[in-house]
Amino acid sequence: MIIGPLLIFSCPHCHTSVMQARHSSNNDIGAVYYSDGSLRGPMYAKGNKVARCAKCASFYWLNKDNQVASIDWEDLPDECPVPFAQALSLSACKQALESSFFQNREEELYLRNHYWQLFNHTRRLKQPDANNKSLFAFWEQNCRALIQLQVNQAHSTLIVAELHRNLGEFDNCRRLLSTANSKDQACIREQLLQACDAGNRYQIALQGPR
Ligand SMILES: [Zn+2]
Repeated sequence: MIIGPLLIFSCPHCHTSVMQARHSSNNDIGAVYYSDGSLRGPMYAKGNKVARCAKCASFYWLNKDNQVASIDWEDLPDECPVPFAQALSLSACKQALESSFFQNREEELYLRNHYWQLFNHTRRLKQPDANNKSLFAFWEQNCRALIQLQVNQAHSTLIVAELHRNLGEFDNCRRLLSTANSKDQACIREQLLQACDAGNRYQIALQGPR
């Protein structure tokens, strides 16, 4: 696990600070790949790109514009000077999307992917939010928006096929999968086809080479 210095970010609205390690861990030993392209593992952590301020509830990007300092781990006092940035919850992410906090396609894609994958994991883990009707309806709406964002994008066939499967549109999923003919797509394609045949629309853990 490689951990860089801690970066301190400040809310642009009220100047409350949070911190985050510069390099998140990208060691995928023991990690599992899922059909929505996400990866979860004991030594794998993806850094957050958006924070919601604990004081004023504003959303802001954890980027250079809002970075105010950095501290090396060895210089960190025993008592943390500021809390770590927390990943957006489903409700917070939904609110960020509904308030059009994003300003371009890349930012929208990040937030929509975060919502999609987080809901999928929440459902797989049988957490209470997965039974929330509003969050579920928004998950479906978000899947449709993600499909639109992927139109004419290269290398998006499997992801769009997966989004159609999540919506229960198995024929659309199969049609797209029939165009995913490359050798490295074959293993995932077969697993998604099996899920379609089983009438399973939800996230699956991927097996074997990928
Ligand atoms: Zn704030």
